[in-house]
Amino acid sequence: MASPSNTAPEASGGTLRLILGDQLDPQHSWFARVEAGVVYVLMEVRQETDHVLHHAQKILAIFAAMREFARELVAAGHRVCYLSLDDPDNLHSITGNLQALMQRFGAARVQWQEADEWRVQRQLEQWARRHGGAVQSVASEHFLSTRGEVAAFFGDREHWVMEGFYRAMRRRHRVLLDARGQPEGQRWNFDHDNRKPWRGVPAAAPDWRPRHDHAALWAMVRRCGVGSFGDPAAQALCWPLNRAEALAGLEAFVAGALPHFGSYEDAMSSRSERLFHSLLSFALNTKMLRPLEVARRVEAAYRSGEAPLAAAEGFIRQIIGWREYIRGVYWAQMPGYERVNALRHELPLPNWFWTGEVRMRCLRLAIGQSLRTAHAHHIQRLMVIGNFALLAGIAPHALHRWYLGVYIDAFEWVELPNTVGMSQWADGGRVATKPYVSSAAYLQRMSDYCAGCPYDPRQRLGQRACPFNALYWDFFARHRARFEGNARLRVVYLQLDRFAASEIDAVRERAAEVRARIETL
Ligand SMILES: Cc1cc2nc3c(=O)[nH]c(=O)nc-3n(C[C@H](O)[C@H](O)[C@H](O)COP(=O)(O)OP(=O)(O)OC[C@H]3O[C@@H](n4cnc5c(N)ncnc54)[C@H](O)[C@@H]3O)c2cc1C
Ligand code: SF4
Repeated sequence: MASPSNTAPEASGGTLRLILGDQLDPQHSWFARVEAGVVYVLMEVRQETDHVLHHAQKILAIFAAMREFARELVAAGHRVCYLSLDDPDNLHSITGNLQALMQRFGAARVQWQEADEWRVQRQLEQWARRHGGAVQSVASEHFLSTRGEVAAFFGDREHWVMEGFYRAMRRRHRVLLDARGQPEGQRWNFDHDNRKPWRGVPAAAPDWRPRHDHAALWAMVRRCGVGSFGDPAAQALCWPLNRAEALAGLEAFVAGALPHFGSYEDAMSSRSERLFHSLLSFALNTKMLRPLEVARRVEAAYRSGEAPLAAAEGFIRQIIGWREYIRGVYWAQMPGYERVNALRHELPLPNWFWTGEVRMRCLRLAIGQSLRTAHAHHIQRLMVIGNFALLAGIAPHALHRWYLGVYIDAFEWVELPNTVGMSQWADGGRVATKPYVSSAAYLQRMSDYCAGCPYDPRQRLGQRACPFNALYWDFFARHRARFEGNARLRVVYLQLDRFAASEIDAVRERAAEVRARIETL
């Protein structure tokens, strides 16, 4: 596939407008009219492909979507300069390329939409400072809250409990409110209705996604020597590459999965990787879809009787609650958030994170799926992979780099607070008031993973005992000083205190053995 470009020389003095790979929003006000003096710039740069090792599908999907976006701009009459990865003029640095393009086009101004990653934002700000007023940033027009809003909302509170912020967002944007401005159904939160395991009924939602052939693009990426991991699936890239496909995905989700989203939000199954999740995160994070339009579509589905309130509320909470909140946490904590390690966990990432070859069936399925499809749903990320990493004591920074590389939707502003904050408690509890950990009992209740696993979920000790069990109790014994006073963990410590000293010793011995043998689990 050729990279799209439409850059006939123009009189100098015009404007370059930078579009990053996660800024593919055709509804942005930039595109409301064609401006002769404006050249839109998109670039495939090694700076971005190489800052962590990425899943092959993620590289492909972003480049393919950027090319598609550039083609649409050209078709709409806009002027576009597209630097492909193999373009000999490509300097592979965002600001290096902008500098060179300013000269090439004789541009007087550069405009860029605020970047969502702190690293890129800082790079652009530093470069802009050198150019004075000629380089300006504009809003991305994507989010429902400002970068600083979450921090302002919570102030100096120790724990930033998402629920209050979510309610404020519902009120402000008038989502799922009744005529008196009260929450629809007289409740803000239907979480307690949403915790069912899935046993095969109702049938899981079909996979609506389009299939794209990107063998030629993949060959180019390989030729350029970009490192990657995971299955490129070059014959069947299945992520939406433009807004039309993303909107079709939203409609398919509403029709086929939303009605059951809430009930089975926390379920896991070896028979369905997707269950009733939306698979919309790539389209949202590359800005093909806007969060408010997604929330409004789901609200409309509830109002027209297409989906029950608990399902609609559960989904809307993810979009206008969690997603906005997580972004606010990111901007409040950066820079430095990527280095937090409150529990001083230092174990390296086991090699099977890169191969999926681990006998623990839950991890084998969740990591195997991640490597094959560049996606796993929230509970797999949190309660299988993250749960194990936290209990075992894996270094949060190493885990963060893995999550950032592997998932199709992973951009640092959303991945980092989820990984080091929500999942690893590495920020000392800002995001999670208690660690998201469980023994095998939870995994057995919420999934069918344990059937067919060589480990026994009911045993705590011995070679066949599920590693989660000893690791779980060892974790709370090890971190007693930190967690004993936490009211939400009172029951855990009451249970632990019933263990005989010899039982605690045996559990800790088994946990040490699990850690020592981590590569061969
Ligand atoms: C350790 C860990 C790492 C994660 N990394 C990412 C990431 O890099 N990028 C990412 O978009 N999400 C991340 N999440 C959140 C969540 O797992 C994904 O958004 C979700 O699995 C995407 O699949 P989906 O679109 O089918 O989601 P659905 O289950 O259908 O949810 C709908 C939408 O809600 C939003 N959402 C749900 N939960 C969260 C959350 N905790 N934070 C932010 N948005 C949320 C997403 O936009 C998602 O598309 C992470 C979660 C954990 C526990
Ligand atoms: S027994 Fe343990 S390791 Fe095996 S699937 Fe269940 S929770 Fe996972």
